[in-house]
Amino acid sequence: MHSFINQYGADEIVLKFIVLLNNIPFNLFRPCTDKDCQKWFASSRSDKQYCSTRCSNRARQRKLRLKDPEGYAEPRRKRLRDEYKKKCDDEREKRLSDYQNPNSI
Ligand SMILES: [Zn+2]
Repeated sequence: MHSFINQYGADEIVLKFIVLLNNIPFNLFRPCTDKDCQKWFASSRSDKQYCSTRCSNRARQRKLRLKDPEGYAEPRRKRLRDEYKKKCDDEREKRLSDYQNPNSI
């Protein structure tokens, strides 16, 4: 009794699969160049490095930041991050005080 694998051989099946992939027009599978993403994507263009405009923009921002650490991008990001952190802290403090003084609600 022969199984499918025994009949064709595992290597041959892998080879057939690769040939199949290469016959698909979008055969340029590669991971996103953005190190935080690295999602696999397919592109018909060999010069495409990022899976999305979002990743490509993020990478560009990062490059700008490396070139010019005092540039506008990072301070803005930091300010937004600090604002968000403060908001979270405030909310946590409010929750805590509500919990400690249930009559004040
Ligand atoms: Zn990406």
